[in-house]
Amino acid sequence: MTTFSSFPMREELKRAVEDMGFENPTPIQAKVIPELLSQPSDIIGLAQTGTGKTAAFGFPLLHHSDVTLKHVQCLVLSPTRELCMQIQEEFKKYGQHMRGLKTVAVYGGVPIGGQIRELKYHPQVVVATPGRLIDLLERKAISLDEVQYVVLDEADEMLNMGFREDIDFILKNTPAREHTWLFSATMSNEVRGIAKRFMKEWKEFSVAAANSTNENIDHQYYVVNHHNRFEALQRLLDFTPGIYGVIFVRTRQDCQDIAEKLMRQGYHVSPLHGDMDQKMRSKVLERFKNRSLQAIVATDVAARGIDVNDITHVINYELPDDPEVYTHRSGRTARAGKSGICMSIVSPKEIGGIRQIERLVKQKFNRSDVPDGAEVIRKRLFHYLEQIETVEPKNNFAEVYQQSIHERFEHMDKDELINKLIYLQLKDVMDSYSEVDDLNAGYENSGRGGARNGSVRLFINLGSKDGITSNEKLLHFITDSTDIEPGLVDRITVREMSSFFNVPGSAAEFISTALSQRKYKGRKVRIEEAEQRTGGQGGGRSYGSRDGGGYGGGRGGYQGRTDGGRGGYRGDRGYSQGGKQGGERRGGQRFSENFRAARGKDSSPNFNRRDND
Ligand code: AMP
Repeated sequence: MTTFSSFPMREELKRAVEDMGFENPTPIQAKVIPELLSQPSDIIGLAQTGTGKTAAFGFPLLHHSDVTLKHVQCLVLSPTRELCMQIQEEFKKYGQHMRGLKTVAVYGGVPIGGQIRELKYHPQVVVATPGRLIDLLERKAISLDEVQYVVLDEADEMLNMGFREDIDFILKNTPAREHTWLFSATMSNEVRGIAKRFMKEWKEFSVAAANSTNENIDHQYYVVNHHNRFEALQRLLDFTPGIYGVIFVRTRQDCQDIAEKLMRQGYHVSPLHGDMDQKMRSKVLERFKNRSLQAIVATDVAARGIDVNDITHVINYELPDDPEVYTHRSGRTARAGKSGICMSIVSPKEIGGIRQIERLVKQKFNRSDVPDGAEVIRKRLFHYLEQIETVEPKNNFAEVYQQSIHERFEHMDKDELINKLIYLQLKDVMDSYSEVDDLNAGYENSGRGGARNGSVRLFINLGSKDGITSNEKLLHFITDSTDIEPGLVDRITVREMSSFFNVPGSAAEFISTALSQRKYKGRKVRIEEAEQRTGGQGGGRSYGSRDGGGYGGGRGGYQGRTDGGRGGYRGDRGYSQGGKQGGERRGGQRFSENFRAARGKDSSPNFNRRDND
């Protein structure tokens, strides 16, 4: 077996390996490090994050750095500021015994002045996001004239983020460049294009086939109707006590909304997305690392800043559009030889997406049922029992409290006491899970899914005068606006000025809120519950407000926690998805527009912008 000590590497670096506790090189390190130490030619390394690729290029890079020289010799380009910071942190550890070595990281989102000052201290190694580096070049705060080594880290991601021209510009402005090391999770034509334009003959190394299979990941998916997604997420979280996970969502708006909803219900989570400033993001990551958070709700790009090896679960709140993004997401778990679970919540329409990803990762996904209430309660009970079994009360607990406890419960027998204690602990879970809907959908002929809890008749202020001339047209408008299954809508009646239709009671609020965000031919859509309206109860419930003001009652808002645990099951279940579809989809768009204006970058792939400034 290859060992670090067998590498012809500077002794200072070998000492750092020992200090860091790395025992054996990871597969990509075993392949790449010897090559880059002895023949630092051009290479392409196909490896995902979590494989140890930073060290694979980091050790050779530092090995070749001449600390006696006072100019930039090595440049690492990376897509995000988080990644830049991580690389710099790693490099600091690798180079801890190399006196005179200086590494500077430059990235957007923070004032440029401090970075300009740092660059004056003559670093040999610079880690940079492309956008900020170009700004610094334009200000003549950095010279790349003597850079010999360039690493393109996560090249596919940099291209996805629209950095192609920036990368071209930077590579063209490194006249002394002799070695280009490109790392990428995937080998797209665009990545190959960069290699063809800027690299000489290169060798390729991959830890497995591109889009590699990590057999330590158990891929599971849960099929629910679109409007049940949030409840399914909650239930999965409740069913997985001890989860330490990342919940992936598509847009920043989703990220914020879903995290807030979970927080309101007592879950220890936080959002992580590109609209948060650097300080906030670092704080979130810190809280996650020290386990004050059980999960982070993240967008794809922001999640790249999460450098944690023992994530137990990745949850896809929705599947990503691009199946390859799935591999990035699932790769956050099962790192460094551990195992992990990747759960995806999908609507029946999205099952095709699962098949596509199965082909890509060459692994079969397991369809699982969203657990019912009894299963959640049992799971929580056993988790609690296990905690009781394994907890080690602090040394003086017994000394301090035993006497009082004993006196108080002397009269109670042991079983009664245990039952009471456990009941108290589980009461909230039992209350909220004693009667819950089956959330599973898409099982043909099994009686699952669909309208289970009574149907609600809704009034909509659109009719034939607005061009809604048939039931199909209205159905089409409803399903388009809400992304619900057509089968959930029935008893459509179209009139001249308005129409009526029925939906399952459990979905009424979701559908109404989504529709009320829409306009039809310039006219704002208004939705009301038909029965109440016609029953003369003051106009019925109106669902016009995105912030929930229009459908108060029932849910009662946040009830603060008192028990210090997760709880949060307050019987206020149901549709807290305020404005999900119409609002958030369009919200996402609005966000990227704002963001473009703000020169942001945690964006959709076609968003052609570089770093924050
Ligand atoms: P990366 O793929 O570079 O993001 O690295 C993933 C994690 O694995 C980082 O936290 C590294 O510190 C860690 N790591 C890298 N190489 C090794 C190794 N040979 N042994 C143990 N851990 C490692």
